[in-house]
This record gives sequence, C-alpha cells and structure tokens, in this order.
Amino acid sequence: MKKTFREKTISFFTRIAKKNKLLKYPCLAALSIVLGTYHIGRYFASNTKRFASVVFVVIFFMTSCSFSFAVLAEKTGFVKAQETYSAVIGDSDITLAEEGGSPYIEDMDEDLSYDIEEDYESDAYTLDDILGDDADYTVEGDQQEELSQQVSEDYVFDPDDWRLVLINKQHPIPDDYSFDLGTIKDGMLCDERIVGDLLAMMQAAKKDGINLMIRSPYRSDNRQETNFNKRIRRYMGQGYSYLDAYKLTSQVITVPGASEHQVGLALDITSDTYSNLDEGFAETDTGKWLAEHSCEYGFTLRYPAGKEYITSIEYEPWHFRYVGREAAVIMRDEGICLEEFWDKYL
Ligand SMILES: [Zn+2]
Repeated sequence: MKKTFREKTISFFTRIAKKNKLLKYPCLAALSIVLGTYHIGRYFASNTKRFASVVFVVIFFMTSCSFSFAVLAEKTGFVKAQETYSAVIGDSDITLAEEGGSPYIEDMDEDLSYDIEEDYESDAYTLDDILGDDADYTVEGDQQEELSQQVSEDYVFDPDDWRLVLINKQHPIPDDYSFDLGTIKDGMLCDERIVGDLLAMMQAAKKDGINLMIRSPYRSDNRQETNFNKRIRRYMGQGYSYLDAYKLTSQVITVPGASEHQVGLALDITSDTYSNLDEGFAETDTGKWLAEHSCEYGFTLRYPAGKEYITSIEYEPWHFRYVGREAAVIMRDEGICLEEFWDKYL
C-alpha cells in the first residue's frame, strides 16, 4: 500500500531519532514544522477561490477610498447631481416628495474644503476706494423704503429665481446659466444685478462705523481651473499620484464648476482693520455686523458654523452669497443655510 506524505515524513524522522537518541527532540520539532507547513499549504490550495475573493474585496475598498472624489465623482456623482438639479429646475412639477427625499441635502460626508483660491486676489476695495469722487452715493429712495419693510409672510419663492441658484459640489453651475458682469471697481467684477445692493450695504455699514472691504468677487472659470490644476501639479511634483493629488487639491480649493464665485454672486468680505480670512473674523465688529445685517441687503453667510456637514465647506465668516433679501432674512432668522432653504421653501 502506498504511504501518504504524512506517514513517510513521520517514519523518516522516527528512523533518525532511533539511530541517534540525542536527535529525538530536534527531530520532533522538525517534524512539527514540516507537517504544519504541509497542512497550511494544503488548506490554502483547496480554498484558493475564497482567498482570491477576499484579496479582491480588500484591494477594491483600498482603491475606492483614494478615488473617492476624483474620477469616480466625476463619472458618477457629478453627472448625477447635475441631472437632479436640471430635473428640478427645468421642470418645477417634480416636487421633493416625488423624488423621495431631499435632493439638496445629500450625504456630504466628504472631506470639508475651503472656498479659497490659491493665489488669493490681493485687490481689496473699501467704499471710498469704489466711489472715489462720487462718495456721496446714497441708497435709492424706493430701495431704502423696501429695506425698512418686513418680508411678507406669504412671499412665494420661485425655484427658477436666479438669486436662489444652488451651487455646491453636488450641484455644479448649470450648463445654461448665464449672467452679465457688472464692475465694482477696475477689474473687480460681479453679477451686475447685485452691485446696487452691495453698495447700499457698504454704505449702511459705514454709517455704523464699519469699513467693509470687498475681495475676490467674480472669478472666471479659467482662473478657478488654472489654480486647481496648478495645485494638482504641485502635489504630483511631491510624488503623489494624480488621483491622490486631485483629492488633496479638492480639499483646499473648490472644485471648478462648483464655486459661487464663478457666477459672480459670492463675495469675500473683510474690513480695513482685519483682513485675515480666518474664523477670528467672526469675532470682530465687522464680522458681527455682517452676520446681523447683511441679509437686509440680500446677502447670506453662505458657510455657517455647524452646517459643515451640509455645505461640505468649512466655516467661512467672510464668504457672503447674494440670495435676495426675502430669502436672506429667512435664512438668518431661522438659522438655516441655502441647502436647507431649498428643502423647506422650494
Ligand atoms: Zn469666498
């Protein structure tokens, strides 16, 4: 009868041990190692499919993590978000209920980012800089009257209202979005429809002893993209793969196509006494004045503290977005951000 590998090994080591008593224990140890290795090997060999699938699953999860906001986002999330957006904007018959939930507040557990561009616009203008000789600019009569009135309770918001356009990582700028640029000062531009309210706000602040400083309103698509790509190349120069570089970049610079600065409705505002873009700005008189009064001129603090899980942008007490007075007042009074406003009123 043919002996098995196990039997052959045992008899081999037994013979050696019988010939030389001193080798009894070394032989026993060697026998255990050989048989142990043999059995483990056989176990792997008979379960190759099982192990291969475990290895595959592990590799899949590892790679999908580092891809999270790069290629996959572009191929799936971005396109999907844009479709949802145009479906709702394009056809107001589709209600939130029919869509089965909140298309505006989505699961935003990605890493937070700041809406700051790389080579930060050094130009910054105060009211005096802007008005120059024309410094006796006054708020137009009917505008002032309107400002003193309360927002009517039965005001109906229109999802097609340009002032309320929702732009974030999940809702990129709609392809057919168009607007005219107006000049604030020299090359500093924004949507021309908000210039009047902006100047009115700056003037009202000045009356309260606050000298607002406007920075980086409109940024062209090109500029946002150039800055974004420049940063990707820098990370790649440090040895990161393209995908990792993309992910790191998207954490510090808003993904092109998802910044409100690109539609001229957002402004970064500081003061002539505190120009840092940091959370400390919120504690200054200017930061407090803006948080309280900007809504009276149609501006809202777009990325508030405590809403990061919805906006996916860090708290930015300097970043203001024009949404119109009616919506801005509601957002301040109810302490809600634009995504929440969409869910509740549109
Ligand atoms: Zn900003």
